Amino acid sequence: MANKLNGTVIVTYRCNARCTMCNRYKVPSKPEEEISIETIRKLPEMYFTNITGGEPFIREDLKEIVGELYKKSERIVISTNGFFTDRIVDLCKAFPQVGIRISIEGLENTNNEIRGLSDGYNRGYNTLQTLVDMGMKDVGFGMTVQDKNAPDLVPLYNISDDMGMEFATASLHNSFYFVESSNIIHDRLMVAQNFEDLINRLLNSNSPKKWFRAYFNHGLINYVFSQKRLLPCDMSFDTFFIDPFGDVMPCNGTKEKEVMGNLNTQSWDELWNSAKAEEVRKKVRQCSRNCWMIGSVSPAMKKYLLKPAFWVFSHKFLRFFKKKKYSMFENKAVKNFKNGKITKAELDACSTCESCAG
Ligand code: SF4
Repeated sequence: MANKLNGTVIVTYRCNARCTMCNRYKVPSKPEEEISIETIRKLPEMYFTNITGGEPFIREDLKEIVGELYKKSERIVISTNGFFTDRIVDLCKAFPQVGIRISIEGLENTNNEIRGLSDGYNRGYNTLQTLVDMGMKDVGFGMTVQDKNAPDLVPLYNISDDMGMEFATASLHNSFYFVESSNIIHDRLMVAQNFEDLINRLLNSNSPKKWFRAYFNHGLINYVFSQKRLLPCDMSFDTFFIDPFGDVMPCNGTKEKEVMGNLNTQSWDELWNSAKAEEVRKKVRQCSRNCWMIGSVSPAMKKYLLKPAFWVFSHKFLRFFKKKKYSMFENKAVKNFKNGKITKAELDACSTCESCAG
């Protein structure tokens, strides 16, 4: 295989949290059926691997999995709720180069309410602080923005910025992966306003990485208003997900699980070049779900760099030479919604992906 891929390994569907926007904990995997080291050994070379769950640190052999993945992946980032501090610290001592993203859904009360973990905020925050104190370079927050926590978006960004951390955002999605089809943003203008404030802060920084994050958040406003993705989706072409059962899928955004093959029973080449994989790729080409999650957007931003780069250039230019800030109304749909040309009912119908998209 010529090109390295971008892979996400869902090591378990077990989870100790009870997030309001994800019902996965209600249908966990059984420990004995979860992806084995032998199957992980069969994965291809990757330039980036995300390890996720469920809660990945529930697996007591996670260190072994990471060790195996480092033999084939240049960069690894683990998404976690940060609850199992000792296990996280232990793994980071063994792999100081690993990236850790801790989901924190807002300031203390909001986070604990959304995640259903009574001490979740303090546990997550303390884990992050411990990792920073250990000198870990690639650590950060991850936040799924929704009505309840949108006002905490900029305050949380400020905390992460003060701690010198990454700040990753998402918004509500519905799919087989979340075992949820009714996630929806109600007050879109309020949520977009908070994204706008964040975008201006990111653009104001001196970090090119943050300018591109500003573009990603601009895309989130676009997504919240149910518009077409800003960039093509090439999942299953150069990017894949593998679930705890060894099933290889294009992404985690489809309504029903789409399977390209099973790595427990097939070799990677056999699976990746199969007729079944081609069928899934055809579906992806026609997919109208317009997800905007980092797993599918990050590879697209690299591949179609010109578009985000032009956006970044023009917004930095506007900011410095014309003294103009980014406005959410640059997105036509936001303007049309404000002017009453698009109704809330129309956007609501599209947002759960059940009526507008397949
Ligand atoms: S737009 Fe379609 S193919 Fe792309 S990530 Fe979403 S569900 Fe998957």
